[in-house]
Amino acid sequence: MTNNIVYIGLGSNIEQPYVQIKNAINALDGLPGTTVIADSGYYKSRPMGPKDQPDYINAVVKIETALEAKDLLTRCQQIEHRQGRVRSRRWGERSIDIDVLLFADQQIKTDKLTVPHPGISQRDFVYLPLLKLDPAIAIPGKMALKDLLHYDEDLVKDESKSDYGCQYAGDIDR
Ligand code: ADP
Ligand code: MG
Repeated sequence: MTNNIVYIGLGSNIEQPYVQIKNAINALDGLPGTTVIADSGYYKSRPMGPKDQPDYINAVVKIETALEAKDLLTRCQQIEHRQGRVRSRRWGERSIDIDVLLFADQQIKTDKLTVPHPGISQRDFVYLPLLKLDPAIAIPGKMALKDLLHYDEDLVKDESKSDYGCQYAGDIDR
């Protein structure tokens, strides 16, 4: 069985976000054939989308897993469900959001799953923790993430694009 290195993004802004993130990381570590190798620590940022909601706590984890991508997504959605995720308005408040950011060198595009996650280089609360885990990380089919960020800046002059004021907010004691 092949083990793949996978990066997962987590976010929460209600019902004790720090605890939600920590619990979700521990749940990922408990999945079959899966180990959490490293975490980025907590990051805090302003909400994307509707502004009348609390600030977010985010984190990225590096895992090693024997699960296939689609099965991992299903498992992530089960963890979201168990932690009380209710789907409300788009980009609205949530107890936990778990996204598959990168899955080894795979490029996947199905109804249910797009990998690499399309928002990585637009969201500071994703790329900052990701670059902390691996400053040289590459986006399959594109280029090194740090180069992609400069490239995007030149292409898109929308200043709101990537700045949610994301800041480091402490180590995760798991
Ligand atoms: P968001 O993360 O954008 O706030 P949701 O968590 O509600 O939205 O997910 C919406 C849908 O996104 C899910 O039903 C899932 O099938 C799909 N999806 C596509 N690609 C991914 C991915 N890489 N990671 C997680 N969900 C994904
Ligand atoms: Mg999601």
